[in-house]
Amino acid sequence: MTWFCEHAWLDDGVRANVRVVADAGRITAVTAGADPAPGDTRLAGLVLPGFANAHSHAFHRALRGRTHDRGGTFWTWRERMYAVAQRLDPDGYLALARAAYAEMALAGVTAVGEFHYLHHGPGGTPYHDPNAMGRALIAAAADAGIRLTLLDACYLAGGLTAGGHTPPDPVQKRFADADAAAWAERVAELADSDTVRIGAAVHSVRAVPADQLAPVLTAARDRPLHAHLSEQPAENEACLAHYRQTPTALLAAHGVLGEHTTAVHATHLTSEDIRRLGGSRTTVCACPTTEADLGDGIGPFRALADAGSPLAVGSDQHAHTDLLTEARLVESYERLAHRERGRFTPPALVAALTEAGQASIGWPDAGRIAPGRRADLVAVALDTARTAGTTPEQAVLVATAPDVHTVIVDGRQVVTAGRHLLGDVGAHLRTAIEPLWEKP
Ligand SMILES: [Zn+2]
Repeated sequence: MTWFCEHAWLDDGVRANVRVVADAGRITAVTAGADPAPGDTRLAGLVLPGFANAHSHAFHRALRGRTHDRGGTFWTWRERMYAVAQRLDPDGYLALARAAYAEMALAGVTAVGEFHYLHHGPGGTPYHDPNAMGRALIAAAADAGIRLTLLDACYLAGGLTAGGHTPPDPVQKRFADADAAAWAERVAELADSDTVRIGAAVHSVRAVPADQLAPVLTAARDRPLHAHLSEQPAENEACLAHYRQTPTALLAAHGVLGEHTTAVHATHLTSEDIRRLGGSRTTVCACPTTEADLGDGIGPFRALADAGSPLAVGSDQHAHTDLLTEARLVESYERLAHRERGRFTPPALVAALTEAGQASIGWPDAGRIAPGRRADLVAVALDTARTAGTTPEQAVLVATAPDVHTVIVDGRQVVTAGRHLLGDVGAHLRTAIEPLWEKP
């Protein structure tokens, strides 16, 4: 396979007329300033490495445009989300996730980190295959042509108060395993493949008591480990009231932070929390469209990067599925909060979208257009009504998902001229979502 890129984002910057050669899904040669050869597939505009969506809950896609009528907070949104969760079974989950992942592919995503906690049947009864829901996600990603990291989330408690953890409520029973050992036993039945990684997650300090963290760490050894962290002030307040520590300090004290770990949101942090996360090289995953949608607040992402944390981005609840927008909003919120431009340069934003994001979900062999790397290519048009006139070097602060025209995952073209190989993704989404909102 050979592609001829009008412009390509290489390790030494944007270069013109770049030939990329791949064999068996891996890049074997990259030549800038080349001439096209017969048989090359031409890619117009700017070709970037594959984007990682480092934080996804696929089923939340069903809530888009359905929760803006009542005001409320994160916590009232969560009640609506739980209502949708109650209606999903493995078949419905497969259909919804397949369509959600196809939408991600259209936006340039070549690998998704699925933070998966909807494990069991109604009332918490395990399915015949206790990983039926996880396997639905694996099948969905295969159908959509993208790689999946199944960040299977340990979820044990319903919430945290000053007096300790509360039991799961009836909806949360679908999320919960009996204890971390039972969680680990279930997850051990899932296997990696060339396009699937099994990772782990601590849902949050609300859902996993501190004495249950050690078995999760053991099971997650050398695998990606993710955790929601301090998305809401109420989590910090409950954690301080019960443990006399911030959530970050609690996770640090139990050895959860480190190079294989990603803290998602990391919105409400103390300066000591920032030092702990950066000093341990814990990746932080910003989800700006979700954080705006839910009124979470603005995380200290520049300070975290300065302290040593790599930055990744995720579309989380998929209020929008547009990773270019997620990256741009990291910089936009920094500008608003600090009244200064250029807090994150275009190369820093591309790194978050690509190499750092891919590494955070267990694909350190992706995220660069370079020999030996996975052949993931995302071609962004520079001649649309939105992007015309921009320089390729600054396109990441301008382009949006509709400007992505071609997407190649491990050498396979899954999006061509803005069309996914599954066809009409809007129709797939509508078919999957509408039954979830019908009156029972
Ligand atoms: Zn999340």
